[in-house]
Amino acid sequence: MQFRDLGRQYEHLKTKIDQAVQEVLTQGHYISGPQVKRLEEQLAQFVGVKHCISCGNGTDALSLVLRAWKIGQGDAVFVPDFTFFASAEAIRDRGAIPIFVDVQKDTFNMNPDDLQRCVEAVISAGTLTPKAIISVDLFGLPADYVAIEAIAKTHDLLLLEDGAQGFGGMQKGRHACGFGDAGITSFFPAKPLGCYGDGGAIFTNDDALATLIRSYAVHGKGSDKYDNVRIGVNSRLDTMQAAILEVKLEAFISEELALVQKAAQYYHDHLADVVTVPKTPEGSASSFAQYSILLPDEGIRSKVMTALQDEGIPSMIYYQKRMSDQTAFADIQDVQVSACPVAKAHCQTVLALPIHPYITKEEQDLVIDVIRKTV
Ligand SMILES: *Cc1c(COP(=O)(O)O)cnc(C)c1O
Repeated sequence: MQFRDLGRQYEHLKTKIDQAVQEVLTQGHYISGPQVKRLEEQLAQFVGVKHCISCGNGTDALSLVLRAWKIGQGDAVFVPDFTFFASAEAIRDRGAIPIFVDVQKDTFNMNPDDLQRCVEAVISAGTLTPKAIISVDLFGLPADYVAIEAIAKTHDLLLLEDGAQGFGGMQKGRHACGFGDAGITSFFPAKPLGCYGDGGAIFTNDDALATLIRSYAVHGKGSDKYDNVRIGVNSRLDTMQAAILEVKLEAFISEELALVQKAAQYYHDHLADVVTVPKTPEGSASSFAQYSILLPDEGIRSKVMTALQDEGIPSMIYYQKRMSDQTAFADIQDVQVSACPVAKAHCQTVLALPIHPYITKEEQDLVIDVIRKTV
């Protein structure tokens, strides 16, 4: 069994993907071909925002937004302690300080009460300027945007939605990647909408921000690539990936999202009485980038992992280490204001199970059977 069976997806979409790739080879517009613009329009429409700017990967997408917001030295950016490294790396990369906020036990997302406490603590300490919040839609579930947008507004903070895992999720009728002042996603192959390499995108309704990011992403271009008005980077989604994504986006919208949600519901129905299953709050929908359960303790988690492995079933620990325990952030420990106990506990007890749109009921039954027998 595979953790996320991309081969099975390719088999399913092979005719269309092969044709799309062949077209790129025939047309020869490898960079900034017409597929890129078309895809950006389709993505913006799906998310429900004015602008989509594609780029090289999700990490660049985060950095480009922070760069355009002129976030740097002396600034504080609030980010969950339990996330993939890139969410916080992008902040430090700009010279700013990530302030790690604890997460909620059952949704795995940023805890708005702890966020509020952290913002107030940074303001009263007075050494850093609070500038922005990076909320993360972990494992596919949108963060609590009603609460987080309110905190951002009260304290005049910019809000960046890290929807690298969240594409396809919804909250109160709004699509993931469309919350806050800007949102980003990643097209890394294993994400909900993945390409066959690296890719990413930024979403915003802010015209000026969109123009600025388009410039930063192509060497700080002015009227064209050879008129350079600022120092930027080279971060683009190439035409081949855009062509693949056009095919995959159509499948994602028409069937894959519903299929993965159905698979998650099946796990829920057969596991909720024996382990802690992920909670989807009323009014929210997850795109289930991961299906992560919580075991009672680290020992039981190891037993479950071994038992699954014995049956040829892969499982993964997302994440082994919280941000505040990463060596790369050892130098900024003294300015952290939250102890983040929930994030710490998660690292010991969380386990992600195989899930993807093409997983079969038989495969899921096997996973369920092993877990039920072991715990
Ligand atoms: C994957 C991921 C990223 C980075 O995306 P890349 O395309 O791999 O650079 C950022 N944030 C989160 C939460 C992610 O899961």
